[in-house]
Amino acid sequence: MTKNERTMVVIPGDGIGSEIIGQASRVVEWFDRHRGLGLDIKERQLGVNVYEKHGTLIQDETLEAIEAADATLFGAIGGDGYDEIPRHIRTETGLLSVRRRLAMFANIRPVVAFDALVDASSLKPEIVRGVNMIILRELNGGLYFGQPRGIEDIGNGERRGFNTMAYTTPEIRRVARVGFELAKERGGHLTSVDKANALDVGELWREEVIRLGAEEYPDVLLNHLYVDNAMLQVVRDPKQFDVVVTENTFGDIMSDCAAAIGGSLGMLPSASLSDPDKEGRRQAFYEPIHGCAPDIAGQNVANPIGTILSFAMAMRHSFERPEDATLLESAIANTLAAGVRTADIAGDVSTTVSTTAMGDAILDQLDRLAR
Ligand code: NAD
Repeated sequence: MTKNERTMVVIPGDGIGSEIIGQASRVVEWFDRHRGLGLDIKERQLGVNVYEKHGTLIQDETLEAIEAADATLFGAIGGDGYDEIPRHIRTETGLLSVRRRLAMFANIRPVVAFDALVDASSLKPEIVRGVNMIILRELNGGLYFGQPRGIEDIGNGERRGFNTMAYTTPEIRRVARVGFELAKERGGHLTSVDKANALDVGELWREEVIRLGAEEYPDVLLNHLYVDNAMLQVVRDPKQFDVVVTENTFGDIMSDCAAAIGGSLGMLPSASLSDPDKEGRRQAFYEPIHGCAPDIAGQNVANPIGTILSFAMAMRHSFERPEDATLLESAIANTLAAGVRTADIAGDVSTTVSTTAMGDAILDQLDRLAR
């Protein structure tokens, strides 16, 4: 691989975005300098900060840069002013629409309990210790995109808001296939989460997942949970899960709930992937699962680990650098084991560090591991 053969777009976004991406960028530089990663980095912006200047959340040029790149590393969007942006601009140019326009339908959200953080979780240590699961959220369909949708006047000064949860057979099969493939590489167990007892779309979801499993993945153990029970199981006995595949909204909610396992929303990374094209290239977007945390923005206290772990996912899924991904994950585990904590994962540690100091500590652990 020659230098700069591959490109990564880096987008801070809003709120804490620039703080967490700032630390992730230092880690990217470390891998460039010490491991010859050789990425061509292109910095761009999207979000409320772009809307204030250009009247859109994302400019076409940025969308084109994302589309042309091998991967995008993103911070977060939203915060002050977001809700005042006209709804059609939010739906047409917001993050959900970017993921959909680039057909990134598979949102992989690993939930791993670091040993050192077991006490920082609000759940009991014996429930959390050893959890290593993936929530695979369908990202291009379901309740967030189904038509019809809207808010309409129904007379007498009253209104009606409505959305539609809809999935086609191909939409269900393509995300279920990613789930089966992930399960095959891991513990061989896929849990499909739906609401088949109450929703027609859930009934179809379950039938199609069963059909695909029987046709192509007879060796993967498949079970099904209703989403309400699945949420309970995530906090009651998360070790029963290997890979979970589920609808867009269900996956969104379930993964925030699963953040209780990792100790904080700030710990969880994600990857959004399209299917490969004819040349084998995929659209790939890496970001922490949390939002722009306006309550702590600008204070240098946000946890950058979810973002840095997202870059580890980029090395694994986009840059064929699994050893480097493992190296980075080990550096983070060592940092946490050394008792370095941002405020959100303080647990019973009395001194917490800033966003920047967490970046320093992770770079220090990388230096030690590379010696
Ligand atoms: P949020 O994830 O921004 O924050 C929820 C809570 O978690 C807050 O208390 C916050 O301080 C904390 N938190 C989040 N990330 C953290 C980190 N890295 N370190 C320490 N603490 C962290 O969710 P919200 O408050 O519901 O939403 C705020 C804004 O973000 C809204 O405008 C929302 O639309 C947007 N949002 C964006 C995304 C995204 O960019 N993908 C996701 C969710 C919400």
